[in-house]
Amino acid sequence: MMAGQATFPPPFKTLFSKEQLHTRLAELGAEITKDYQDVGEDLVLIGVLKGSVIFMSDLCRHINLPLSMDFMGIASYGDGTKSSGVVQITSDLSKPIAGKHVLIVEDIIDTGLTAHYLFDNLKTRLPASLKMCSLLHKPDRTEVETPINYLGFSVPNNFVVGYGLDIAQKYRNLDFIGYVEE
Ligand code: 5GP
Repeated sequence: MMAGQATFPPPFKTLFSKEQLHTRLAELGAEITKDYQDVGEDLVLIGVLKGSVIFMSDLCRHINLPLSMDFMGIASYGDGTKSSGVVQITSDLSKPIAGKHVLIVEDIIDTGLTAHYLFDNLKTRLPASLKMCSLLHKPDRTEVETPINYLGFSVPNNFVVGYGLDIAQKYRNLDFIGYVEE
């Protein structure tokens, strides 16, 4: 290895392999396809930047419907690993969602503060329906209960990384989900 070159990836413990993620996403996609069969062209996936980008881009290819996509930037964490408790829109949707069937796509629901804020905010824009899809959920950390209509996996309390999830903006490009040992 050349001087100054970091080991990549660092020795994270694998929580979900590439294959496990693929299998679960295919199941979620099939479920979503079945549930939104009758909404015509009106399904909108809203990805929450930046963590859900990898999940959403893989998930949408398992949904066999004429959907559209939009993104919303939300800041609830700094570069650390603790929730600031403050939720703020850093980048808003590009189009109104009134009358649309909206499915929020999140990477992980931890305390639930971000999801709760998003639900309340998007509800005021009068979508025809509003549901939540999250790849991961940490049930032990819940501070605010929010419905998760489609869930990939529940996870323990460790800080998880990869497949969209970062540590100080790095490691989103790992094709598995790992965790940092305490
Ligand atoms: P909440 O508002 O539910 O506490 O936090 C949601 C956001 O915090 C997620 O969208 C994600 O960006 C970040 N987050 C929460 N837990 C983790 C984690 O274990 N790993 C990473 N990388 N981000 C997390």
